[in-house]
Amino acid sequence: MLLPVTLLLGCWGFAHFLFNHPFCLTICSVIVLMNADILNKGCVESGRDAVIAKFEKRFNCNPDFVSIAPGRVNLIGGHVDYNRGLVLPMAVDRHTFIAGAKGEEAGILTVHSIRENESFVVDLACPMSPAQPNWTNYVRGVVHGFLSRGIELPGLNMLIDSTIPSGSGLSSSASLEVATAGILEAASGVMLKGNEKPKLCQQAEHEFANVPCGIMDQFSVTFAKREHMLLLDCRDESIEQVAFDHEHLALAVINSQVRHELSQSEYAMRRESCESISTTLGLESLRELTWNRLEQSRGQLDELSFLRAEHVVRENERTLEFVHYMKNADWFQAGEMLYQSHASLREKFQVSCAELDELVDAARQVGLTGGVLGARMTGAGFGGCVIMLVEREKASDVVSKIVEDYNRSGATLSRPRASGFVAESAEGAQVIKCAVG
Ligand code: ADP
Ligand code: MG
Repeated sequence: MLLPVTLLLGCWGFAHFLFNHPFCLTICSVIVLMNADILNKGCVESGRDAVIAKFEKRFNCNPDFVSIAPGRVNLIGGHVDYNRGLVLPMAVDRHTFIAGAKGEEAGILTVHSIRENESFVVDLACPMSPAQPNWTNYVRGVVHGFLSRGIELPGLNMLIDSTIPSGSGLSSSASLEVATAGILEAASGVMLKGNEKPKLCQQAEHEFANVPCGIMDQFSVTFAKREHMLLLDCRDESIEQVAFDHEHLALAVINSQVRHELSQSEYAMRRESCESISTTLGLESLRELTWNRLEQSRGQLDELSFLRAEHVVRENERTLEFVHYMKNADWFQAGEMLYQSHASLREKFQVSCAELDELVDAARQVGLTGGVLGARMTGAGFGGCVIMLVEREKASDVVSKIVEDYNRSGATLSRPRASGFVAESAEGAQVIKCAVG
């Protein structure tokens, strides 16, 4: 008896709240416009409501659309995307939210980022080129991609809000690009087909932000499915959705908050080195390299190049093995693949750092009895995040223990404090039309 009464009172209270808050009417009448899958509950709704409120405050009108794009972690397949290899990203429940509405001035784009606390204005009739401050280039590049395809854009006001930490390997950059593309699709009425949207966004990052990234980030942000990992073949761009057993497993993300200076230059050097090894061996990319061919190349490659190539060949195999173990619920072996991947990135590809190694070692110490199955660095390296495959019921204890121990042991060191969270899988990018009621 008590339950129906409580429910009734709850519904009445909620309805009363709505009718007394006109802003809520905007939110309540949102309709999913694209990618009609169910929204992730909780943080997506609160982030969406927050961006609508911030837009209304800044631009003094209701937004027409909200574009939402997740961040992602790569479970395995480290530094193989630009070698046309096999990667396994999963979108996580940290998002970029962009609210947008047609502006009063035709041909003028006004963009504000809450995180940067900065705005910029673009005249769509003028040729678009990279400019300062640098964050604007992720947006400019995408706008340029639309204009260069002959897509007409109306004058627009856009407000960017985000719950993805920047520069930590959770791909806030691709998320910003794909969310921008979503708003431009909605505003122009032209939907990009197939792979065109992630490709346009990747090109924006190359040409405007000057980051020579692979296709993984933009593909995962665009095509992710909740409760799934995305097995992406970066050679033929094919995708397989692989179920993540979220009932038993969870993914802990520990952000070291460290970003070593050399991270960008070392990334570019690794790319160049892989390209030069392929050229030396007469291959299109390191994806074509086999163990036999690698063995024969000992005389042709210096020691470091050999190690780099060895990492790529084995990491591609590890991605497939990890998928196999996950499909067969052999989580212990799946976890081992993560530890192996980290060791290879540390020793052969040399993109880890002391802070990431310490976190992975801590995961090993907690071990199976504490609920940790495996761990590795994720992203470009030299800082950023470590991911841990953990038993769901122990996940939050694992995060607290590892973060507390790490911060305690580093109390006397001049390093940032780490933070962590249990990441839930997220749906790929989507756009919501806001109909004012
Ligand atoms: P990651 O993609 O791993 O987060 P990157 O260095 O590739 O790291 O991209 C981070 C950059 O993306 C930021 O320095 C900033 O220029 C841009 N960016 C991401 N999110 C936002 C945001 N909400 N507002 C403005 N710029 C952003
Ligand atoms: Mg990035």
